[in-house]
Amino acid sequence: VNRMNDKYHREDERLKTFETWPLPWLDKNVLAQTGMFYTNEDDKCKCYFCEVEIGRWVHEDHPVNEHLRWSPNCPLLRRRTTNNLPINADALDRNLPQASYDVCGSNDTSSLD
Ligand SMILES: [Zn+2]
Repeated sequence: VNRMNDKYHREDERLKTFETWPLPWLDKNVLAQTGMFYTNEDDKCKCYFCEVEIGRWVHEDHPVNEHLRWSPNCPLLRRRTTNNLPINADALDRNLPQASYDVCGSNDTSSLD
């Protein structure tokens, strides 16, 4: 089940994996929108674009903030060109971190700054 599914570049396909998502208080629409699909294991989801896996969510967590915390160079979150196919590009744009966002300690030389 660790095999990456090639259709998960599509947000609608990622959203389908959340049918059995166990945490109704954590917005699966935002998770799917920002690159995540559900692994079907506990509350673990995984980003198609940076392959980070995040689980053990607590109520204060925000999907995008946690994703950035564990994977600050995620190409989707950093607004790089990916093959992501969003359901609603404007909604995605609103949920992504600002382009000027930078992470302390990042050694990424292609930073927008
Ligand atoms: Zn990611």
